[in-house]
Amino acid sequence: MRYIEPHGHMVSRTTDDYEAMVYAGCAAVCEPAFWAGFDRGSVEGFRDYFCQLTDYEPRRAARFGLPHYSWLCINPKESEDMVLAEEVLSIIPDFLGCPNVLGIGEIGLNKNTRNELRILERHIDVAAQHGQLVLVHTPHLEDKLKGTRLILDAIRADGRLVADRVIIDHCEEHTLGLVLDRGHWAGITLYPESKTTPARAIDMYEQYSRQNLWLNSACDWGRSDPLSIPKTVLEMRRRGHRESAIEGLVYGNPVRFLSQNPRFQLRLE
Ligand SMILES: [Zn+2]
Repeated sequence: MRYIEPHGHMVSRTTDDYEAMVYAGCAAVCEPAFWAGFDRGSVEGFRDYFCQLTDYEPRRAARFGLPHYSWLCINPKESEDMVLAEEVLSIIPDFLGCPNVLGIGEIGLNKNTRNELRILERHIDVAAQHGQLVLVHTPHLEDKLKGTRLILDAIRADGRLVADRVIIDHCEEHTLGLVLDRGHWAGITLYPESKTTPARAIDMYEQYSRQNLWLNSACDWGRSDPLSIPKTVLEMRRRGHRESAIEGLVYGNPVRFLSQNPRFQLRLE
């Protein structure tokens, strides 16, 4: 079995995690820019982080034979400081030429505030200007439905992004249909505590589109499981899904979305 981890915050994970993922069949990992668990103090902190995502981390993953790709942005959790956010937006184009960068992400909303929405619109503008793929984070729990609607409306209002070049991640039962109806891809995040269990994820897979959907672990510095995709494969086998369908979901689908950026190349193919 082979799979893609399309959303993992690997700078927070150990080399043991890389090794376990490769043993489990991981063929590539993609790392969206994320909050560090604390607010970075300056634009130079972000410059260092973007260097880590585009230089050091791909080399660390390569030691395990694992291709590593990244996405760049300032996370919605940090976009309340509009001056800092604009400074970070101004350095993102310097990194868009790096060979492992796939697009702008994970942008989106956290508390659905006015400032977050403004910085989301600015990221959409940068993505449109530079022809980038977009990966979107949606808020958790009670803010999710409202936040997802605000995000979808912001993308539609801008009008320049092609719908199927945008993936809206962390979808749940009440948001997945909205996202797919707009022509976007949808991501389901597998988390041990919040978000989705393997059984819920496969319920959604069975109910909705099996095409424009990916699974991810979103493993980071909190309680999360970098092996949650292979564990969800066990749930699919238990339910009797064919191996070709399983590989379609955990490998074929992410490859299809990510290959819209020609930089995404898998050596095994
Ligand atoms: Zn994330």
